[in-house]
Formats: sequence, structure tokens, C-alpha cells
Amino acid sequence: MNQVYESKHPLVRHKLTFLRQTDTGVRRFQELVWELSALLAYEALADLDLNETAVTTPLDEAAGHVLAERVALVPILRAGLGMVDPIWNLIPDAQVGHIGLYRDEETLQPVEYYCKLPQASQVDVCLLLDPMLATGGSTTAACNILKGHGIERIKFVGLIAAPEGIAQVHSAHPDIDIHVAVVDCCLNDRGYIVPGLGDAGDRLFGTKVDEAARIPDIAE
Ligand code: URA
Repeated sequence: MNQVYESKHPLVRHKLTFLRQTDTGVRRFQELVWELSALLAYEALADLDLNETAVTTPLDEAAGHVLAERVALVPILRAGLGMVDPIWNLIPDAQVGHIGLYRDEETLQPVEYYCKLPQASQVDVCLLLDPMLATGGSTTAACNILKGHGIERIKFVGLIAAPEGIAQVHSAHPDIDIHVAVVDCCLNDRGYIVPGLGDAGDRLFGTKVDEAARIPDIAE
């Protein structure tokens, strides 16, 4: 049965507050996504196995540990891309795959348009990354793709989840743990998480510029 881990860490709560804020600009929004992603991955990977080793310090021999498990990071395009680098900085040996999904406007089902994954035999645990777990459609489809590829041990890491999305992933993939900063109230009729933070992809990549607030280019 999957577990939902909602971070209780004060730093996560603090940073999430500024992430949600409407007037947080693109650069600060990106930084907050990086910082929160690293903190959430730190919590999600707390059960990684270690191998014992020895290390020589300038003074003596010391007991040490190295990761015994190989981690893969798989962002769901496009917003998941914003979560990769901070986690990759923590685990530079991780392999990074990508899954691209769009929503078919007639069937409303997620359709795969891009997929490049590490070999399953080289992955012990996969972090599936997407800031927003809304309806659960993309997460469920991405888990189907990962499992179809032979990658079985998956942990979802996101920033904000809706109960509807958790229920959907829960029923399709009861073995997948969900790590988020917070579980919000619900979805609105357009599938946005409320109160949420709006469109994570647009806020990360600056693709919805408020024309009234835009500083004119010097050449204009
Ligand atoms: N995707 C987003 O970026 N935001 C939401 O609220 C829901 C899905």
C-alpha cells in the first residue's frame, strides 16, 4: 500500500509559502523549486541502502559508507525538469531519463510523445519528478511507462498534491510512495490544484508574462 509523505520540515513549509505567492518572480520561483526539490529528495531517499567501507583521513582510518543503490531521476516534461538539477547535485552518479506526456483534448488521456529511460538493470530506485500531482493522470501514465520498461521501485517526488491525484495513483499503483511538501484542498474545474501555485511550468519557465507588468525592451 502506498504511503503519502507530507513534509513536516520547517524549511519546506517556509519556502513553500514564498513559492505559492503570486508575485514571486521566475528566478526566485526556480530557486525555491530547486531548494524544495533537494529537501524533499533528501527525505525521500532516507531509506537508501549503504555499503560499509573504510576511509583514510589525515589522522587515521575511519569507517565510512557509500550508496549501495543506483538512483535514476525521471522528470515528467516539462515542469519536472525544474526539479532535476538540485537532486542531481546531491547524487551526481544518478542517471536521468525523461518522459514527455501531453493531454489528448478529446479523450483527456495522457499521450506519450517522448521517452528516454536508463536501462532497468542499472536502476535500483527511481525518483519520478513532477511539481504538481493534480488529477494523477500523468503520474499514473508515467508509472505505467516506467514499469513497462522494467523499472519497478518508484518514488514520486512532487511539491504539491491534490487528494484526487493521490487517490488515482493509489488505485493504479498501490506500491508507489508519494513525497510532497503539502497536500492541498482539491482541484478546480480546470484541473488546477487549489490553492496550489498556478501553472508550475509557466512559472518555472516564464511562459506566461503579464503584459501589463512587462518592462519594455530597450529597442522598442
Ligand atoms: N499543473 C500545474 O502546473 N498546476 C496545477 O495546479 C495543476 C497541474
